[in-house]
Order: sequence, then structure tokens, then C-alpha cells
Amino acid sequence: MKYVGAHVSSSGGVFNAPLNAKEIGAKAFALFTKNQRQWRAKPLDDETIEKFKENLKKSGIEPKHVLPHDSYLINLGHPEDEKWKKSLDAFIDEVQRCSLLGLDKLNFHPGSHLKKISEEECLDKIAEAMNITLNETDGVTLVIENTAGQGSNLGHRFEHLAYLIDRVEDKSRVGVCLDTCHTFTAGYDLRSKEAYDETMAEFERVVGFKYLKGMHINDSKPPLGSRVDRHHSLGCGEIGWDAFKFIMNDPRMDDIPLVLETIDESIWAQEICALYDLVE
Ligand SMILES: [Zn+2]
Ligand SMILES: [Zn+2]
Repeated sequence: MKYVGAHVSSSGGVFNAPLNAKEIGAKAFALFTKNQRQWRAKPLDDETIEKFKENLKKSGIEPKHVLPHDSYLINLGHPEDEKWKKSLDAFIDEVQRCSLLGLDKLNFHPGSHLKKISEEECLDKIAEAMNITLNETDGVTLVIENTAGQGSNLGHRFEHLAYLIDRVEDKSRVGVCLDTCHTFTAGYDLRSKEAYDETMAEFERVVGFKYLKGMHINDSKPPLGSRVDRHHSLGCGEIGWDAFKFIMNDPRMDDIPLVLETIDESIWAQEICALYDLVE
């Protein structure tokens, strides 16, 4: 069974996110647990936590189908120690916020080398940050998102994801989120059944589906292999509907959150229905 939703707003309070998800007929959702453009956030108080859990229950969505996303400011691969530490502290805080809300995953972009260190040094820094975070927290799986590889962002090759997983000591708390737009613009084709099968076989070979904990379902404005990160509404971009049909009929994507980050939120409810209609 598929669990489709969208990255919904938590404006006014995180407890609004489950209600926003329910309103568009979502069976899964993503959210920011704090303002994603600020370093600091006030701690979650008991009332907020209770209200979130209550609303989540009302929405009928299970905690395992919620995929929180961390702040865009965080760079766990930052070449400068002071800024790396600032990112690490903020990341640990984000994991603890998920834990307080009763959620078991945190989705993050691996990090950027900013052209100041090598790819390998950058990946080592990310792995170190992940290990420290896992030692200092409990119950939350760190879900690495693959990227488009724009600028100096790492995570666009499946090998990068595998490298990180390989260096994480507690493999029970590491996972991967595949974003269809990022996968495609990173150079992995999804448009024909043949291309889709080949891409997914490579993912299995290099990373392994046992680590797949969620997906972001987006069409792409830029073409295959462009390494530019611009999402589009489903069927309006370079990827097209076929890829989404393959996903909706692929049992390897059962029981994980499938989250829209498409650009027109006014049609999310329609996009969710359209995805379910693809199930054969
Ligand atoms: Zn994404
Ligand atoms: Zn993106």
C-alpha cells in the first residue's frame, strides 16, 4: 500500500501540519519542526507537543509516515570547523524535536564542500556528524536525501549515499530518501520502464532498498543530468507521468512516506488523487 502526501505548512505551530495534510487527503506528510531559515527556535513546549500528537491522531496518519525535513541552513559537511559545529548543534536539536513529537525520522541534505575541501573529506565530516548525532539522541533514523548535485552539494551519486551509510556505526538508524527530481537531474533516468528499472537496479546494487525510508515525488523543470534543482508539478516537467506510474506500482515503495514538493500547492489534493489513480 502507498502512503502519499505533501510537504505541508506548519505555520502557526507544528500542530497545524497534520490538519493541513488531512485537508488535502494525504496519507503521509513532511514538515519543518521549526522555521527552516533561522538557526534558533524556541524549544517545543508540552502543550505544543500534546496538540501535535492529538492532531496527528485526528488525521489518521501514522507517525512512521511523517518525514520531517531539517533546516536548509545546516551543512554537516562544512569545511570550517566552527560552522560545522554550529550545523551539528542545530542538527542534534532537530533530531531531538522529532523525538519529542513522537516521530522516528529526520530527512536532511548531506552537505556541501563549498570548493574548499575534497568530496571525500566532506563526506567524512558528514559521517562524523551523523555518528555524533546518533550517539547523543535516541529513536530517530537519519534519512539522507539524494541531491541534484547543484553547486558543491554532495549526495547526487548513489555512491555518496553508500559511502555515508558505510561509515555510520549504527546502521539501524540510517536511511535514504530518493527525490525523483534530484535523481533525474543528477543523471539517473526514470522516464521509460527500461530506464526506471535500470536506475532502481543501480540503487539496489549501490545502496540497497532496505535503506529506502521515503521519497519526494516531484517533476523536474531542468533536463536529465543538468544538476539543477528546480521542481515542477507532476506531468508538467521533463520527467512526465510514466515515472510516477512505475513508482505507484512498485512494491519497493510500499509503506514509506511519498511526499510531494511540487510547486503549486493549490493542486496537491488533485496530484495525490492522480497518483492513487495510477495504481493498477
Ligand atoms: Zn526533496
Ligand atoms: Zn529539490
